[in-house]
Amino acid sequence: MTIANVIVDVPASSINQTFDYRIPERFQDVLEPGMRVIVPFGPRRVMGYVMGKASTSDYDKLKEIADVLDLVPVLTDELIDLGKWLAEKTLSLYIIAFQAMLPQVLKANYKKELERLSEAPLPDQLETLFAGRDFVPYEELESAGIHYHQVQKAIQDGDVSVHYLVKSKVTKRHVTYIKPSRDIHLLEEAYQDLSNRAKKQKELLAHFIEQPEEIALNTLLKHFGTTRSTVNALVEKQLLEIVKKEQYRNPYNDAAFEQTTALELTEQQEQSIEPIRQDIRMDHHDVFLIHGVTGSGKTEIYLQAIQDVIAKGQEAIVLVPEISLTPQMVRRFKGRFGSSVAVMHSALSNGEKYDEWRRIHQKEVQVVVGARSAVFAPFENLGIIIIDEEHENSYKQEDQPRYHARDVAIQRGKTHHCPVVLGSATPALESYARAQKGVYQLASLTKRTNDKAMPHVDIVDMRSELHAGNRSMFSRDLKNKLEQCINRGEQAVLLLNRRGYSTFVMCRECGHVNECPHCDIALTFHKNSNQLKCHYCSYEELVPTRCPSCNSDLIRFFGTGTQRIEEALTQLIPQARVLRMDVDTTRRKGAHEKLLNQFANKEADILLGTQMIAKGLDFENVTLVGVLTADSMLHLPDFRSAEKTFQLLTQVSGRAGRHDLPGEVIVQTYTPEHYSIELASQYDYLQFYQNEMQMRKKFQYPPYVFLALITVSHQNHATVVQTTQKIVKGLWSHVQEEGTVILGPTPSPITRVKDRYRYQCMVKYKQEPNLRASIHQIIRQFDDQVRKDDLQITVDMQPYQLI
Ligand code: ADP
Ligand code: ZN
Ligand code: ZN
Repeated sequence: MTIANVIVDVPASSINQTFDYRIPERFQDVLEPGMRVIVPFGPRRVMGYVMGKASTSDYDKLKEIADVLDLVPVLTDELIDLGKWLAEKTLSLYIIAFQAMLPQVLKANYKKELERLSEAPLPDQLETLFAGRDFVPYEELESAGIHYHQVQKAIQDGDVSVHYLVKSKVTKRHVTYIKPSRDIHLLEEAYQDLSNRAKKQKELLAHFIEQPEEIALNTLLKHFGTTRSTVNALVEKQLLEIVKKEQYRNPYNDAAFEQTTALELTEQQEQSIEPIRQDIRMDHHDVFLIHGVTGSGKTEIYLQAIQDVIAKGQEAIVLVPEISLTPQMVRRFKGRFGSSVAVMHSALSNGEKYDEWRRIHQKEVQVVVGARSAVFAPFENLGIIIIDEEHENSYKQEDQPRYHARDVAIQRGKTHHCPVVLGSATPALESYARAQKGVYQLASLTKRTNDKAMPHVDIVDMRSELHAGNRSMFSRDLKNKLEQCINRGEQAVLLLNRRGYSTFVMCRECGHVNECPHCDIALTFHKNSNQLKCHYCSYEELVPTRCPSCNSDLIRFFGTGTQRIEEALTQLIPQARVLRMDVDTTRRKGAHEKLLNQFANKEADILLGTQMIAKGLDFENVTLVGVLTADSMLHLPDFRSAEKTFQLLTQVSGRAGRHDLPGEVIVQTYTPEHYSIELASQYDYLQFYQNEMQMRKKFQYPPYVFLALITVSHQNHATVVQTTQKIVKGLWSHVQEEGTVILGPTPSPITRVKDRYRYQCMVKYKQEPNLRASIHQIIRQFDDQVRKDDLQITVDMQPYQLI
């Protein structure tokens, strides 16, 4: 087969297909699907991914592949298929889908080098190439005209490796170790035979007779103040030998994790894990939803299921929300599986990410714990995929390709015939509905493993605080409880929802919020026009000066920043030591962990923060959790706002009293009667699910319908409006099913970003088998304008970010 089908790195919809290239003789038995190549494209040379090989092409004058970048494919066959599926599902370009699946380092054309890993003789040509060196720039290999097949074989035999030179503080290299290659008594004999003039050699030998363990070459040379030639002399006499070990930029020190072993499972845990184990044994794919309260032992179930998978010789992917990739979470996996675990999160440097990816690619680890993109880990023998906190929005990528990690996980689970386990204390409505229908297998854990009750939740009505003359952000109750907590030497966590900053209008007298009459969603305040607008249906009205409900003039825009709260808090309780954790204080790498460590070391009494403090944290000494404004999220123009409020309140309540000390929770709100607040305080997920499902049904939102969101942006307002109108018109002429609704054009919630206007339209549908194809066809009509006039059209087939 002399023809390669290549997806080229030219992100344009007119080029979104494979192109045929001739494979030159020298690459013919080297090139495989999944490798990256350099190909001529127009006047340029671009990178591309080989999708497949063929013996014929429909075209005559084929250009040749200019270079092959990999000697081992970076995409497995499965990942090639997955990338195609991903592009089609999310309506994104193939090239963008593939690039989302690989670490950054592999996207650019980094410098490469060959490294010799062993002293074993290599084929003559390679021997000449290395010429006694350990490292050879890749270009030398290219210009030497050596057949790549030879190099490939040397790589397979473990004698040579190729790697990318990524600039990073610690560059990954192989570290050379020296160890004795003979028995000690033979070394002793050799020691006697050595001439006294070889003083340094004798010293080294004496060292290895004393301490026969391997030692890093550098350390050895430094310690004995000698040079490599001394070592080489002993290596030549076959007394010592050289061993090379790959040294990764391992951001975690594996030795620092205390080893743990499997706990004896509780009855509920046993019941939940058994069907998963059965799937693992039978190579069967099911999706399991573990609905378990915080502290019910979900993580222990994950750990034991993974143990089964590893015992079977298979691999596991564990997804956790970015923000929960705290040392606490990592410790649980590393503690159980040690160095078999790779960790992938966004705080790693590009080099570190590449190293972790490489450890997976080279099958040096069996488990990866990571954020969203870890779902693409290049394992070939997957035995389980676990998604913890499956309801988290961070599993949805808000950039092309706009995928949800849950969908990718299920797709891979089907291919690999392995179970996918979703876990949460507050499952996404979509997931729970699927479990109710039997599409997912449901397991419920209702008890905490330590049998401790969930902490008691007190709801404080902030309207009555106001009536009693308290205008501060802190109720009298919360202030007293905070003081008592600090006096007892215990700690408190205070949550502020910073989202919803000054976006909705609320009456401080009666709690009334202006909502859209057609959509049951809070209207958003638009400062420029002094109007309130609905982002779903374009309804608008002027900002009222008096509350439409009680006629009070205490109506105002809602939202307050953490910094202001911190100031108010230190005024209110001057003796409190406060740590603030929000996007501002955690921007620097490692800042997040540092703050958590300070809090764990009791260097502060109160941890004040945004959503990021709600997840996964587990502090023994925290006995009080306060939620400052439980409703700030409730009135965001997002049909999921009640669900998000319920999730957040449940999650943050779980932070209190996890250990011996009893905990309590105070929730401040202006709308205490709202079902999401009331039911969260009772930990009643099922009732919440039922209420919320009714609302979704009434207003026709997921899971009753599917959504597709199309957003248009351009510098010219009229262009945006007209384009969106045309798209809406096009959509109406394509939809087939009764009940399908197209909303819009309406201005996007943030109507102008960086001097570009944004409009959107949304499709609500139950069944529209050709919708993807139709949308594709409609937006292709604007290709010219996209290319020449900087028009942007984005499609999200599963929108989460509606505000
Ligand atoms: P979740 O993930 O549901 O919040 P965890 O797995 O973190 O729950 O478990 C909560 C606590 O209970 C942890 O400290 C864990 O070590 C402990 N635990 C879990 N399973 C058991 C068990 N079977 N026996 C005793 N302790 C357990
Ligand atoms: Zn009012
Ligand atoms: Zn509306």
